[in-house]
Amino acid sequence: MSDCLFCKIRDGEIPGDLVYEGDSVLAFNDINPQAPTHVLIIPREHIATLNDLEPKHSDVVGEMHLVAQQIARERDHAEDGYRTVFNCNAAAGQTVFHIHLHLLGGRNLGWPPG
Ligand code: AMP
Ligand code: ZN
Repeated sequence: MSDCLFCKIRDGEIPGDLVYEGDSVLAFNDINPQAPTHVLIIPREHIATLNDLEPKHSDVVGEMHLVAQQIARERDHAEDGYRTVFNCNAAAGQTVFHIHLHLLGGRNLGWPPG
């Protein structure tokens, strides 16, 4: 766990551009934004991939979505629309193995994604 990038941001060992800090969830701006709003929402607990979710994680995963909704509303994306995405493992392009919900907004987003 000590070599996990997002655990290091959680612990303040490397800087993160934090936009939300809660008891169980953090959110920070993506370092390589793909839209005017590109925020990553993570659980404080290290969970490597969606495959590792267990029933005990239900509350924190729900909280992650409520934080996404709140940030989207604060940035006036609620009416126009926005996207939330979890990538899981290689075929989906997951590169950081601490689950994170991408919140993308502020432009028209194509579908299907690449
Ligand atoms: P994924 O491909 O779903 O694993 O997404 C990982 C995301 O983490 C990418 O969008 C990266 O741009 C982002 N990222 C990588 N390093 C950092 C960092 N130090 N701070 C913020 N975001 C990062
Ligand atoms: Zn981690």
